[in-house]
Amino acid sequence: MNRILIFVLTVSIYCCAPQQSEQSNADNSTMASTEPNYKEVVCFVYHRFGDNRFPTTNISINDFEEHLMWLTDHHYQVLSLSDAIDYLSNNTPVKKTAVISIDDGYKSFFNNGLPLLRQYKFPATLFINTETVGAGDYMDWQQLKEATEQKIEIGNHTHTHDYFLNRPPNVRYSDFENDLKSAQQLIKEKLGITSKVFAYPYGEFDKKMKTIVKSNGFQGAAAQNSGVMNSITDKYQIPRFPMSEHYAKMFYEKASMQSLKVIKKSPEENLIPNSTNKPLLTLTIDTKGLLMNQLQCFVQGGDCKINILNHNDRQMELTLQSMSDLTQRRRTLYTLTAPDSAGNWYWFSHLWVNPSVK
Ligand SMILES: [Zn+2]
Repeated sequence: MNRILIFVLTVSIYCCAPQQSEQSNADNSTMASTEPNYKEVVCFVYHRFGDNRFPTTNISINDFEEHLMWLTDHHYQVLSLSDAIDYLSNNTPVKKTAVISIDDGYKSFFNNGLPLLRQYKFPATLFINTETVGAGDYMDWQQLKEATEQKIEIGNHTHTHDYFLNRPPNVRYSDFENDLKSAQQLIKEKLGITSKVFAYPYGEFDKKMKTIVKSNGFQGAAAQNSGVMNSITDKYQIPRFPMSEHYAKMFYEKASMQSLKVIKKSPEENLIPNSTNKPLLTLTIDTKGLLMNQLQCFVQGGDCKINILNHNDRQMELTLQSMSDLTQRRRTLYTLTAPDSAGNWYWFSHLWVNPSVK
């Protein structure tokens, strides 16, 4: 890497929340990067539709329709996740692109979400955990079959939807792989298709689980940390913005969000190291076009410190660290945001998991 060390800054920036209120409806076909064929895709994850018993995972039917209407009005290309992964690396023209994904396969999607997708002629990717298909609130195989006939891609969300990180490493990986294979087999048997994409239950994974997904032939895997994927994003930890009643009105800001390009990240691992409760994340980011004096980091449930290690006119190397121990929450995000002079916002987040919090 051709990095010019100008001087070492030790700047600490404290903030409480990423600024989200001033994003313009940026056209993400005009990105900061001028690299040929550099592309971005914003991906959303929904769970329940019009089922207000579960506000943290539910979207109202009105809000969902407004999201679809907004994507139509703003001329977004909406793709399934596997098509979006192809789009990021092929030679098709750069367009504003979004993915609608739905996890778990609840009946409320079939009853309330699917008819709206049909009306707006949008595809989507539905990740199913096969053990519960047809039970309780979950769609049955016939409903899933009908969904596939309406441009719905079926993704693998494991068989049991378990907390695999709770298992010791000597069984975690074999259990995970067997579970994923059971789901793949059932999807093949019942629907006659081979899922091309995967989603980690609860968005939790470690480095080796990623390699297992890849070695089983999947094109990519969806996580649940917020962010926008781009041409250089690791396709086995695709960020998705969660959509629920609480976040519904932020859809427009998130859809306009751009990807803060991370060139290098250390550690690659999501598990919090045993040696610390305040894990350090080192990033090298592409700063072209960004107002770096407005860089902010955010840690859920506390404050965040940024230390800038070095920078030049194209890149910055920095560390992020929580100011408080990450011992209370199972999953914690470090989020980094910066604007450009046109008022567009750029976003990156890294997930830390503390499996000792059940
Ligand atoms: Zn799930």
